[in-house]
Amino acid sequence: MDAQTASASVPEPHTGVRRVFRFEDAEGDRPDLFGGKAAGLARMKAADLPVPPGFVITTAACREAVLEGGIPPGLADEVFDHVSWLEQTTGRAFGAGPSPLLVSVRSGAQISMPGMMDTILNLGLNPATAVALARETEDLDFAADVFIRFCKMYAEIVLGASGDDVADAAVAARQGCPPAASPAMVMESIAAAAAAVLVDDVGRGIPDDPRQQLTAAIEAVFTSWNSPRAVTYRNAKQISHDLGTAVVVQRMVFGNLGAPSGTGVVFSRDPLTGVSDLYGEYLAGVQGEDVVAGTSTPQPLAEAAAGLPDTFARLGDHLRVLEDLYGDMVDVEFTIELGTLYLLQVRAGKRTAQAAVRVAADLLREGRLDAERALSRVSASQVREMERPCFEGAVRDQARAEGAVVGRGIGASPGHASGIAVVDADRAAAMGRGSGAEGRDVILIRPTTSPLDLHGMLAAQGIVTSRGGATSHAAVVARAFDTPCVVGCSDLEVDVDARRFAFAGRWFEEGASVAIDGSSGEVFDRVLPLSSYHGMDTDLGALLTLGDEVARCEVYGRATTVEQVERVRQLGGSGIAMRLGDILATSGEIEELLRVLVAQRETDPVNLKGFEQVVADVLAPRLEAAEGASVVLRAVDLVADDFAELLGADLIERQPRLALPVAIPALIAAQVAGLATAAARVGVTSPPQLTVRHVNDAGEAAEVKRIVEQESSGPGRVPVRAGVTLTSPRAVHMAADIAERCDTVWVEVRGLQAALFGYGRGLLKPGDPLDDYVRRHLLAGDPRTKLDGLTIQLMTSLAAARVSRPGCEFGVRLAGPVAEDVVQFLFQAGFRTYAVDDGEIRPARICLGQAAFDEGSGSTSPDHPVRPKRKETQ
Ligand code: ADP
Ligand code: MG
Repeated sequence: MDAQTASASVPEPHTGVRRVFRFEDAEGDRPDLFGGKAAGLARMKAADLPVPPGFVITTAACREAVLEGGIPPGLADEVFDHVSWLEQTTGRAFGAGPSPLLVSVRSGAQISMPGMMDTILNLGLNPATAVALARETEDLDFAADVFIRFCKMYAEIVLGASGDDVADAAVAARQGCPPAASPAMVMESIAAAAAAVLVDDVGRGIPDDPRQQLTAAIEAVFTSWNSPRAVTYRNAKQISHDLGTAVVVQRMVFGNLGAPSGTGVVFSRDPLTGVSDLYGEYLAGVQGEDVVAGTSTPQPLAEAAAGLPDTFARLGDHLRVLEDLYGDMVDVEFTIELGTLYLLQVRAGKRTAQAAVRVAADLLREGRLDAERALSRVSASQVREMERPCFEGAVRDQARAEGAVVGRGIGASPGHASGIAVVDADRAAAMGRGSGAEGRDVILIRPTTSPLDLHGMLAAQGIVTSRGGATSHAAVVARAFDTPCVVGCSDLEVDVDARRFAFAGRWFEEGASVAIDGSSGEVFDRVLPLSSYHGMDTDLGALLTLGDEVARCEVYGRATTVEQVERVRQLGGSGIAMRLGDILATSGEIEELLRVLVAQRETDPVNLKGFEQVVADVLAPRLEAAEGASVVLRAVDLVADDFAELLGADLIERQPRLALPVAIPALIAAQVAGLATAAARVGVTSPPQLTVRHVNDAGEAAEVKRIVEQESSGPGRVPVRAGVTLTSPRAVHMAADIAERCDTVWVEVRGLQAALFGYGRGLLKPGDPLDDYVRRHLLAGDPRTKLDGLTIQLMTSLAAARVSRPGCEFGVRLAGPVAEDVVQFLFQAGFRTYAVDDGEIRPARICLGQAAFDEGSGSTSPDHPVRPKRKETQ
């Protein structure tokens, strides 16, 4: 078909603010206003890439429409002015022959919501224009196919009817026409068949007038913003419901017209591994939605490229231009119409955690990205993802050898998962982990997935489909949620009604145990145990080191065992945070200590000589493993959450004074002495630190300092630094006074939040019940990922105390998953010392690096000493 580019102008809008823009007038850096899809089209247009012409209706118009419950006044006129422009520029007529103008009506929000199924293709057809299309292309089958697809999508999206029923009836009508039937007869019978189903189903048919079709389609896209599945997706991804979607109206190009034609999706790099090779899929002779819907299994891109080398070489050139434009890996939807290449969509490609890291590191090495942007390409959750559980190699090899691999498909989202097979999304949602505390590990096994299955996919640990390729709905959603996924298992048969499935004819009932490997595409007929730690990654190491260099922070990682101490070092923790209570609990020594404490009456002098030895003995190997890294030891805390269970309320009831942090000086003295002796024994030179928890006052801090000085001086002992840990609002309020009396002050942010909310133990840990509570909007924010106003005030005053007490080191203890916003705030407030859970060291480092770049400084201020060099293995 022709692709004229006659220049034509568009009149000014009839009402105040402009709501419709040609791609050439839209701004590529305003996805908030134009949505991601149109912003990408605008960028491609500006770069002179082959984009079919079209225009976009802004997200602001959608917000108006949602408020007004319909198309806002004046918008239709503005739209039709642009349709006139489109007619002129393409030399085609909307709703008339001999060259009818067909358009797609596509939704595009600021944040991509994959596979929301609200695009209508081929709009502008009625029996008369369908006949004109058949004449123009001299291809009746093509025109009939295009017409049927339009009827199907319009029925589904605008009329809310069953598109499949309409398509089935229309296809039957088409096939019922005699071979010599005229185009008019064919199109009329398709239209009549569709109308009959629709009138029956929803009481109205498809209007013949394309202008009515267009306004109804635009309204349907606006309305789809609040469809239940869109709302589910946004809830799951924590995307605001107020953004609205833009609507893209674009001239159709046809991958189903003659040959060589077809449609595909291509990534500029492999979205699974990040390797720099074009990766994608192509289906010859079809329209775009067939690839995205995963209803057929397409051809790998490399194979297609061999057939059309010139066209695909051009595609590769375009992708390189787009990568430079985006400073990122991109994915592109394209169509080839009779040998002419068109680009229909571009965005920063969705990718696995592993690929995100590889792409950022490669672009940096290629000099196409600076350090700041490279670091911003990787999120804390992706870093976390790199450390997620996987099968133990030996067990998997054994299973393979025993013939446990029952099926094989395309590995579409890496990661390993085991669980019970479920073939229905509702049941998966009811049984899976997402459903509540007693949820089980579920693997969802489906013929294919659609947005209607989203709730089940979210609750599943893994997903398997029999049809669809690496860019099908199942694959895209799985990657977005980092759920292991295998698609396109061609010998998998799923009988949803009978609740069973078969691999190569071998049947399994729902509930059978399975395991999947989302990289290799293997499906196993049994549960394979997961282990949670696998090696380091050089690319990630390089990015993290970049971040460390600008952030210049101390990051202590929590450790209990010698292995964990080593692991903290491997993960790049600059210091080791240990809890003596935990160490004694794992070694079984805590009971003896408790026996002494319980037996003891207030008037007796305490004899803890034996305890001092025990402390020295357990600490020595750990200090040795720390290899000179800073060490902070948290003194035994008899009222700590984790201990309450172990000790029983008993102890504190009998000896209430044990709830006070410095009640028994001899207990602190023994720990200091043990630490000082152990340090001397293994030759540690830099002073380790002991910190006492729940300190509220300068008097307590002074007493800790006195004991520490007394116990850690003299021969055979290394000096120890005196620390206190604040957990109460009162303590933080007094921080400046407290800091004057000791060497280090730590504050536990979660403890502080719990105190402010009046929450007891465990409530602020990840997972239910607070998840559910927050989801129901009963709290303004999630206290685990957002700091509330009062905490911010207290931390700000703590930051001021820190500046006024340069002689004391201030540290922040973060429990559980490190939240980006929290780190950002703390870094900006000036905190440079952090303690995190061991698995959170690298996520914390990436957050700190990003925060440092965000602050725009990147330079060292005099009160932020250069942090020691970290060890990064490999
Ligand atoms: P989604 O947001 O689900 O990706 P799209 O709006 O991108 O939906 O459209 C769905 C499919 O239709 C895609 O494969 C796209 O390439 C194709 N498509 C959209 N507009 C056109 C057009 N003007 N010509 C040809 N194919 C199109
Ligand atoms: Mg698309």
